[in-house]
Amino acid sequence: MMKEFNFTTTPIVNIVNEIIIDSVVRNASDIHFDPAEDYLKIRIRIDGDLRDYTIIDNKYKRNLTTRVKLLAGMNITESRLPQDGAIKSVIEGKDLDLRVSALPTSFGEKIVIRILDYSMSMQGIETLGFTDENYKTIMEMLAIPNGIILVTGATGSGKSTTVYSMLQRLNKEEVNIITVEDPVEMSIEGLNQVQVNSEIGLDFAAVLRSILRQDPNIILIGEIRDSETAKIAVRASITGHLVLSTLHTNNSITTIERLVDMDVERYLLSSSLKGIISQTLAKRLCPYCRIQRPANETEKILYKRALGIDVQTLYDAGRCEHCHNGYTGRIALQEVLMINDEIREAINKNIDREELKKLIYTKNKNVRNLLQDGLIKAMQGITDLKEVFRLVDDDDYDDISEQYTDQNINVENNILHNVQNVVPVPNNEVKRVENKIIEPTSNNNPNNTSQNMFDDSVFNSLRVNNEQINTSNYTNNLVNKINQNIPGQQVQTNTQTQPQLNQQTMQNQNQAQ
Ligand SMILES: [Zn+2]
Repeated sequence: MMKEFNFTTTPIVNIVNEIIIDSVVRNASDIHFDPAEDYLKIRIRIDGDLRDYTIIDNKYKRNLTTRVKLLAGMNITESRLPQDGAIKSVIEGKDLDLRVSALPTSFGEKIVIRILDYSMSMQGIETLGFTDENYKTIMEMLAIPNGIILVTGATGSGKSTTVYSMLQRLNKEEVNIITVEDPVEMSIEGLNQVQVNSEIGLDFAAVLRSILRQDPNIILIGEIRDSETAKIAVRASITGHLVLSTLHTNNSITTIERLVDMDVERYLLSSSLKGIISQTLAKRLCPYCRIQRPANETEKILYKRALGIDVQTLYDAGRCEHCHNGYTGRIALQEVLMINDEIREAINKNIDREELKKLIYTKNKNVRNLLQDGLIKAMQGITDLKEVFRLVDDDDYDDISEQYTDQNINVENNILHNVQNVVPVPNNEVKRVENKIIEPTSNNNPNNTSQNMFDDSVFNSLRVNNEQINTSNYTNNLVNKINQNIPGQQVQTNTQTQPQLNQQTMQNQNQAQ
């Protein structure tokens, strides 16, 4: 899988270009040039994980880093101080923006190239993986002329893509859109984008004060980081502007709490806040090799409790030449909350956290938390349960605990119906995989391992592996979660699995937590 370059026949300029193009083609988000004592290792980050890409001999280390620094407009005579640079270019038809950073380490400069690829944001909100219901809610939010809509999530959760997609939708001749960002991540025609520069005192708050005198209709605040920005955002939204912004929180309830912590007054917050979209990114199952299997009893109970539906089949990761360990690309899990009158009043009145949670998640059947959204996407084969459990908070299990208890389990046929009609992976995604994942060696070499992946024996052993992982790894965890958090029936672990493996994986899990 490691790439090799011939430095005696290929000019360094071409090698650097090839590294960048190849990384873009493989949908990498970052390229790392890691200097070691005797070599330079290049790694690329795909779907959130770093993978070894190539090893460069020490002889060429300096030339290679110098070439990257030159491209990024850095000072090539300075290697003792950290530097930042950028490369703008169109590669493979994609408008690319590369942010380059150099850091002096004991074995030379470490360079990281961050590939900012906004082609996703340009494809529209409908391609971001929202369920039909959530998509409809977001359209309703965007039709509101004033108020605040927040997109929340951790760093790297795809917030920017969602916010930019929403701005694209709002970007029309008759409105004045002004953004204040740090940094301006993507230039969009028709927008007035302002870059924060705190060195000269141009911070979010300062820009926002000026923006309000520029007759805006819609304002994007890159991120609400402090109390002053939060307060100006709220003030702007109650004086007739639509404000979009992002916040570093995980779900609706923590977002409301964070804003209150930032000293935003409750009566202002309750009247300005219109919607909260929370998200996280899950690895997407490879559509070529995912393995459909019957759901086990524990999983059936979870689906019944969480969504009120009978799940029959689920999917596990397979392995093939189109993917990395069964996954390719990522998909967002989302929670979309439109603030209704009841929630508005509750925010205003400062009701108890548990009561507010009930209002948001239990009484309000339109809201599905990240766990529920993940379960739906796992059922569709877009991701798997392992990914969902890796990403959701314990809180999410609490929130669903009273939704469908023994007394009121009723199968929500509409969800089931929707799921059956969903094409699990959009066609253009499949095409993207076909066109872009190029393995230069697999075409020429018949003994290549990626071909052997289709051997029945390998396939069967993978299947067995998957079942072991399936029953031992997450199911035990799941049983505990259900027993702890969901009242009613106690669930037993399937005793057929090997106890040793169980214990070991449970230990691993405990360590991971
Ligand atoms: Zn695959």
